[in-house]
Amino acid sequence: MPSTTSPLTFDIKPSANPLPEADRLKAFESLGFGTLFSDHMAVIRWSEGKGWHSAEVTARAPFPIDPASSILHYAQEIFEGMKAYRTADGRAVLFRPEENARRFNESARRMAMPELPEADFLAAVEKLVRIDARWIPQGEGSSLYLRPFMFASETFLGVRPSREYIFCVIASPVGPYFKGGAKPVSIWVSQDYTRAAPGGTGAAKCGGNYAASLVAQAEAYGKGCDQVVFLDAAEHKWVEELGGMNVFFVMADGSLVTPPLGGTILPGITRKSLITLAHEEGITVEEKPYSFAEWKADVASGKLKEAFACGTAAVVAAIGMVKYPDGEFQISDGQTGPVTARLRDALIGIQRGQSNDRHGWLHTIAGV
Ligand SMILES: *Cc1c(COP(=O)(O)O)cnc(C)c1O
Repeated sequence: MPSTTSPLTFDIKPSANPLPEADRLKAFESLGFGTLFSDHMAVIRWSEGKGWHSAEVTARAPFPIDPASSILHYAQEIFEGMKAYRTADGRAVLFRPEENARRFNESARRMAMPELPEADFLAAVEKLVRIDARWIPQGEGSSLYLRPFMFASETFLGVRPSREYIFCVIASPVGPYFKGGAKPVSIWVSQDYTRAAPGGTGAAKCGGNYAASLVAQAEAYGKGCDQVVFLDAAEHKWVEELGGMNVFFVMADGSLVTPPLGGTILPGITRKSLITLAHEEGITVEEKPYSFAEWKADVASGKLKEAFACGTAAVVAAIGMVKYPDGEFQISDGQTGPVTARLRDALIGIQRGQSNDRHGWLHTIAGV
């Protein structure tokens, strides 16, 4: 598919009606997740023959969508989730944004969508953060959540890849992802639903995966749980991941176990970073299939000490309680265990610019 080779030039059109500063400060007093949005958005359009064009940063506004627009019928849509942080020394930073740009294109390939050059993806994100820098919250656990996404925008009902797409980045100042803050989460083991099958779209970050997970997530809420964990589709035996987070197990010998990537699990950047940090701390990490039966047995025997979920939104969240149709069990007495806490603090320390960024994971946005 044609794509631009030289970086695009963005037309910067500041909003005529930015939120008054007093209103923004008021809204910042009670940050939730994904309810409040900044003043602007970055947009790039793609059409067959022309490739990527019309890059701009403009006032956040609705897109006019034709009722026959292909996104509304066949769900060609992908997205990313990343955060801009304000460090103690006043920089605005992104965490490993090039990993998001790369994964975005992997998702695009799976969904038969055009790839966006990584430089253009990064430029769109950076330019949005630059114009909306006042929207980066400072408080502990707060950040400016960035949502790059792309959807099919051609007016056409035939079944084939769209010939037009819109790429967009929006920004939302957020507080902690879970209402309980840093408290351990409870999870429901879904028996009736699976998230991803071999050959399916499990490794792509596409809206369709989330649409399919919502009924299981609703069931989890109904059981009094915060999140759902999915087992594999083929054998209904192996633990895969949560609706939007990867999962790790901490064994009594101090080693970590996490399900292996391989098409049905989203390759999380938080997952990958934690594996690196664990290795540095001398912790062994095994990427291997782990069954729900083993999980249950290992908690009962004391072989498993902790479990946690991880992703950009919640960073690291201990799993304190696991429920399934026949019963439930607690992990770490329902507390955040020491290994989970250490890894979480190590990661957050780097993301917030408080500890040495020895891997060059932080990307400072110039001029903010
Ligand atoms: C985004 C996502 C994750 C976490 O990925 P990060 O890069 O760590 O944010 C995990 N699982 C699913 C299904 C996801 O969509």
